[in-house]
Amino acid sequence: VWRLLFGTAEQKKRWLEPLLDGTIRSAYCMTEPGVASSDPANLRCRITSDGADYVITGRKWWATGALSSDCRLFVVFGVSDPDAQPRARHSILLVPADAPGVRVVRGLRMFGYTHSASGGHGEIEFDHVRVPKESLLGSQGSGAALALARTTFGRRVADQGVIQDWIAEARVRIDQVRLLVLRAAAMIDQDGAKAARAEISAIKVAAPTVTEWVLDKACQVHGAEGLSQDTPLAELWTQARTMRFVDGPDEVHRSMVARRELARYR
Ligand SMILES: Cc1cc2nc3c(=O)[nH]c(=O)nc-3n(C[C@H](O)[C@H](O)[C@H](O)COP(=O)(O)OP(=O)(O)OC[C@H]3O[C@@H](n4cnc5c(N)ncnc54)[C@H](O)[C@@H]3O)c2cc1C
Repeated sequence: VWRLLFGTAEQKKRWLEPLLDGTIRSAYCMTEPGVASSDPANLRCRITSDGADYVITGRKWWATGALSSDCRLFVVFGVSDPDAQPRARHSILLVPADAPGVRVVRGLRMFGYTHSASGGHGEIEFDHVRVPKESLLGSQGSGAALALARTTFGRRVADQGVIQDWIAEARVRIDQVRLLVLRAAAMIDQDGAKAARAEISAIKVAAPTVTEWVLDKACQVHGAEGLSQDTPLAELWTQARTMRFVDGPDEVHRSMVARRELARYR
């Protein structure tokens, strides 16, 4: 809604007033499938000028509210001036939800759930959607400034320091758990399972916790796609989280380890 504060008097009357009255909803369409959308330089949705109109072609996803029956407006962020300097390449258009060529393809789920309060997050196709030039929000090329986009970072996600830190940390944690498992297995072989009870409990705490941590980072690295039904990550995360109860809760296993530690000094 706040983006419409930049609108003309006519745009405000047509869209902002009913939005503020709550009689209609809008959905903001910036993020795109298949590209790291937190960097606007990667976005591909094209806005071309054709006489008195703009024509939009592209696909967006995670547009919150797009599946609501009240959604009447898509606020679409696209590339209008590909040869301009990076911060002047994008424009924002106000597109009626029933414009020819607009198609809500599907709803997206987060960890298996839709967000019913907002009507759900939509994937939307814009297939040569034609809107009059009066639909432009602000001036042509001012989209990045209006969206307060994150600055470009010009690097692969895997080359970001924080991501490399997670990768290294994941390797360290996974190897620690593997060594715990090997130690417990050796103890069971030598002295039997009873003697290794605390070591087995330690694994039951450590393995699911590490698995959950690694999957949490994997979801994060994939962006919103990592929460959706399009990768196995969300399901794997819920399984890992579940494992912290399946064979007894973490707390019970920890108390087993603690009892053995305290027994050494009693
Ligand atoms: C519930 C929900 C609602 C949403 N609603 C909307 C909406 O209404 N409209 C809309 O357009 N979008 C919406 N989004 C999409 C959201 O804005 C994007 O998911 C977000 O901007 C990240 O883009 P991406 O998913 O493409 O991740 P990517 O850009 O691919 O980023 C993936 C990961 O890379 C890492 N990364 C990225 N940049 C950096 C950096 N500079 N330094 C270090 N690491 C970095 C982070 O770990 C990040 O999570 C929504 C998402 C969700 C989950």
